[in-house]
Amino acid sequence: TSFGFKEVNEEEKARMVGNVFTNVAASYDVMNDLMSAGLHRLWKDRLVSKLNPFPGMKHLDVAGGTGDVAFRILETINKAKLRGLRDVFEDTLEEETQIYVCDINPSMLNVGKQRALERGFGQDRSLVWVEGDAENLSFKNDSMDGYTIAFGIRNVTHIEKVLNEAYRVLKRGGRFLCLELSHVDIPIFKELYDLYSFSVIPAMGELVAGDRGSYQYLVESIRRFPPQDKFASMIADAGFQKVEYENLVGGVVAIHSGLKV
Ligand code: SAM
Repeated sequence: TSFGFKEVNEEEKARMVGNVFTNVAASYDVMNDLMSAGLHRLWKDRLVSKLNPFPGMKHLDVAGGTGDVAFRILETINKAKLRGLRDVFEDTLEEETQIYVCDINPSMLNVGKQRALERGFGQDRSLVWVEGDAENLSFKNDSMDGYTIAFGIRNVTHIEKVLNEAYRVLKRGGRFLCLELSHVDIPIFKELYDLYSFSVIPAMGELVAGDRGSYQYLVESIRRFPPQDKFASMIADAGFQKVEYENLVGGVVAIHSGLKV
């Protein structure tokens, strides 16, 4: 069975993606843990360690959803401050750290804001929640030190537009980092992974979230996403230099990165 995405037009696709995330917002975090057996936490840790966040930085996390990546960035910065890196960053500390979480779906952002309160980030003025479209960002040119997008670019209508916008808002020297479910190219492991994603994930979605269709769509969107090398060349086409990627778990996920010089 297919969700029939190839036949629908772009406007319809955008609306359906909207529905998917409104439907899954409440169960999103639990489902992430279940589907990845908790591994998504390690993948996000890896993403943030590659970013190397620093106090005073201006960072944009796009498709930031329920705040997972932004919380990690903020925690890393707060730890750096505690470790006595204060002296090193004396100048930048004067400037306020700003982590923008941008997502198109207000339901996802609301879950994120609630989690921020629970995690004690309620008073932290560094976190800014912004409703917006990755394809058409409201941020100024050359305004960000870093840009991350985790499990988000697969769902957008025009990947190229998202990459162009990422390039536009980054400062020179700014890093682009993308964590995404990607392609496994190892025999046997690939077959097992296909079996898992096409059979187990939709069933889990039905059981836990009461929503088979949304999870079926998520699996199909993984198949349609460009393979690692193709995606790397798209990032380079947007203007980025030093484009590279790292496969995790044999390509189940990949972290792509690029530099604006
Ligand atoms: N980054 C979070 C994480 O890793 O847990 C959330 C990932 S979630 C799978 C994908 C998110 O992308 C959803 O919150 C959805 O609303 C958002 N999204 C989809 N299309 C978008 C767009 N065009 N612009 C911004 N966000 C979008």
